Amino acid sequence: MGGVKTALRQSYLRQRKQLNAEQACALSQKAQQRVIALPAFRAARTVGLYAPFGNEVDTELLCDFAQGAGAAVAYPRITHGTMEFVRFDNECAWRPGTFGILEPSIEPQLAHSCQVTADVFDVIVVPGVAFDFTGNRLGYGKGFYDRFLAQCAPQCVFIGLAYDFQLEHKLPREAHDIALDYVITDVKSFACPASGRA
Ligand code: ADP
Ligand code: MG
Repeated sequence: MGGVKTALRQSYLRQRKQLNAEQACALSQKAQQRVIALPAFRAARTVGLYAPFGNEVDTELLCDFAQGAGAAVAYPRITHGTMEFVRFDNECAWRPGTFGILEPSIEPQLAHSCQVTADVFDVIVVPGVAFDFTGNRLGYGKGFYDRFLAQCAPQCVFIGLAYDFQLEHKLPREAHDIALDYVITDVKSFACPASGRA
């Protein structure tokens, strides 16, 4: 299983690297518009986003929409080998964290009060290396999202966000893999009722 996932990761990451900045920006706009059209996203009061890394679909429009709608927005950071989410507002600075991924820069004494725990989220927008039509997700191979999403409330909506070329017909799924409720790309948006959630 590990070998199949590793080979798929390499192939999808190679494709994503080939996008230039203009292409990534144009496709990201389209994909984000589809997320913003989703009623569950529009209604969310607490939203988890991600800071794009390595040509991932951008999330800036999603942040602008959510903040404009008065929702709380949080981004992941890795501390002590675990992924947690911290509240982001426009006063926040960014700094590169583990793996060079940007994280909200939080003063150590504020770290606890800025943390947004898994049970609070209404929606989490999840990046990935590839997704399939039943909501399976292939990440970078560290399992950070599998661990975090496992702690969320059953009604929390998980949205996988990617370019259309990141869709695989069927990805391998292991017992610990958490599936998504929706997968959204620059071309389409679909619900994954067989994901086994809610
Ligand atoms: P990714 O989801 O990033 O593609 P994998 O699904 O291959 O990565 O998982 C990577 C590692 O994380 C696996 O070895 C897996 O056992 C571990 N892992 C994932 N979820 C959990 C969990 N809930 N508890 C403990 N280990 C986990
Ligand atoms: Mg996984």
